[in-house]
Amino acid sequence: MFLSLRPLLEGTTFYVVSAILGLIVGSFANVCIHRLPKNESVVKPASRCPKCLTPIRMWDNIPVISYLLLRGRCRACGVSISARYPAVEALNAILYLLAALRFGGSTATFFYFLFITALIVITFIDYDLQIIPDEITLPGIPIGLLAGWLILPDPFYRAVNMGITASLIGAATGFLLYYSIAFISRGGMGGGDIKMMAMIGAVLGWKGVILTTFLASCAGSIAGLYLMVFKGKGRKAKVPFGPFLAAGALMSLFLGQEIVSWYIWHGQR
Ligand SMILES: [Zn+2]
Repeated sequence: MFLSLRPLLEGTTFYVVSAILGLIVGSFANVCIHRLPKNESVVKPASRCPKCLTPIRMWDNIPVISYLLLRGRCRACGVSISARYPAVEALNAILYLLAALRFGGSTATFFYFLFITALIVITFIDYDLQIIPDEITLPGIPIGLLAGWLILPDPFYRAVNMGITASLIGAATGFLLYYSIAFISRGGMGGGDIKMMAMIGAVLGWKGVILTTFLASCAGSIAGLYLMVFKGKGRKAKVPFGPFLAAGALMSLFLGQEIVSWYIWHGQR
C-alpha cells in the first residue's frame, strides 16, 4: 500500500496551508494544555481571559497576530497574557512547515501533523504538572497502529511502507523497554512515559524507540547538568522526562534516516 507516497497537494501552496493550519491547531493545542489536566471540555466554553473571564472575540483570537496587536494584554481588563500562548502556536506552525518540506503533501504528512501536536501538548502538560495525559497517549496507540498499517512510510527507509507488523513491534518495544526502566528505577519513570513510548513506537517503529531514547537521554543529561551547575539543583531534582522524549521523537522523525545512515557509514570504517 503506497498511499503515503501519493501527494495530495504540492509546492508553495502546500507549505503556506501547512503553516496556517499549524497556527490554528497550535491555538487549539493551548486549549488542550490548559484544560485536559483539569478534565474540562476542550470544545466549550470558548476561550476566555484567564483573569476577568471575558470571552475573547474572534478577531482577538487570531494565533500570534492578535497577541502582537494587543501587545500581550487582555482587551477587556489589560492583564498581561503569557507569551507561551503565541510561542506554542508558532512552534506548532514551524514544525508543520518543516514536516511539509520534509515529507511533501502526502496523507502521512497530515498524520505527522497530528503526532507533532500530540507531542507538544504532552510536553507542556508534563512540564507544568509532571503528568503525561492518558487522553493523548491512550487513543494515540491505536491511532498510531492504524496509521502505521495504512499510511505511514518506514521512517528509516522512506521508500517502504511501515506495515502493521513493524508498527506493532514498535509499540511493544516502547511499552516493554519503558516498563522495564520503570520497574528497575522504582518510579523514576512513570506509567505516562510507558504509554507515551508505546504511542511513539507505533509511529516510528522499534528503531525509532531506540533512537528517541538515546537522543532524549543525551538532552536530559545536558539539561540535568545545567540545572545542577547553574541553578544549584540537587542530583535528585525531579525533572519531567516527557519533554525530552517528545524532542527525541521529533528528531528521530525528521533526522532518523540521516542519523542512522551516518552511523552505519562511520561504523563500517
Ligand atoms: Zn481580561
